[in-house]
Amino acid sequence: MAKVLCVLYDDPKDGYPTSYARDDIPTIESYPGGQTARLPDADVVISQPFWPAYITAERMAKAPNLKLAITAGIGSDHVDLDAATKHGLTVAEVTYSNSISVAEHVVMMILGLVRNYLPSHQVVLDGGWDVADCVSRSYDLEGMHVGTLAAGRIGLAVLHRLAPFDVKLHYTDRHRLPESIERELNLTFHPDTASTVPHCDVVTVNAPLHPETEGLLGDELLATMKRGTYLINTARAKIADRDAIDRALRSGRLAGYAGDVWYPQPAPADHPWRTMPHHGMTPHISGSSLSAQTRYAAGTREILESWLAGTPIRDEYLIVDGGRLAGAGAHSYSTR
Ligand code: NAD
Repeated sequence: MAKVLCVLYDDPKDGYPTSYARDDIPTIESYPGGQTARLPDADVVISQPFWPAYITAERMAKAPNLKLAITAGIGSDHVDLDAATKHGLTVAEVTYSNSISVAEHVVMMILGLVRNYLPSHQVVLDGGWDVADCVSRSYDLEGMHVGTLAAGRIGLAVLHRLAPFDVKLHYTDRHRLPESIERELNLTFHPDTASTVPHCDVVTVNAPLHPETEGLLGDELLATMKRGTYLINTARAKIADRDAIDRALRSGRLAGYAGDVWYPQPAPADHPWRTMPHHGMTPHISGSSLSAQTRYAAGTREILESWLAGTPIRDEYLIVDGGRLAGAGAHSYSTR
């Protein structure tokens, strides 16, 4: 096994510079002699979903050596999985590394929206004491119906964490949970998303982005939700129709929308989700707490070491392998 030692130099004495002498640096495509400096030469690419390098079919076509794409985190939709199957690329991610991190963020966002936390905090920052304004959009979560679209690692962890709040829990998933869990958490299972959301006061989205889920949360589905539903999407932005969410908040169909996933990322300054009413968006941070980073860094290293040693990558880390969906990918994704 190879030992890799990274020898770095100290940080600047006064901390990192807040500005630089120049605004950009020249882009170097290749070194003298023809060695390329970028993806075309790489055997392995390690990327992450928070500020993703979109590994498109075109990019794969220009990178003939590429054999392995590792996602440092969970959610490999920034890699074109159809193209990966055709190119024989192995795609792997660090399954479970930040699932609990996201579940905690979901619970925080549900409470934040339902209790009207962010606008009330803003009143404090603005020097006010406008109690009546703060509470005019504030409710108790207790007694509400909460549904998750998908009950995999994140969705199930959200259900577990919400059960003590005395809510009524609903879920849908391609794979029904064991009866013992349904009984323990008093879950109501629905066969699909369309039959789940009309029952819910709060909907949380925890499915991967793939052909079955892309564009799912559009005008048609939103129209079947109760007026004043809260929607939390920490899964992937493209599961929702960007403008339909904006419209539903303005019409009151949704009482609030929160999440941390955008398209594209980074979101442009004029992305409508930055300014739509009653939102509690963050940048893509839920799965990147320092705790999570420690785990997905270790998992990335484990995947890389397996690959370098020619030993099998753990099945639960695999999304695409041998020209088809594999492992966690076969369980949770589909291709066109
Ligand atoms: P998981 O594989 O454990 O669970 C995914 C679940 O989705 C599975 O149970 C699967 O059966 C279900 N599913 C897939 N397609 C479905 C469909 N059409 N209808 C119903 N259910 C469907 O993965 P996880 O760890 O729970 O993560 C889920 C997703 O959350 C990831 O793929 C990723 O997109 C997102 N995520 C976001 C962050 C973040 O930082 N915001 C971090 C981690 C994961």
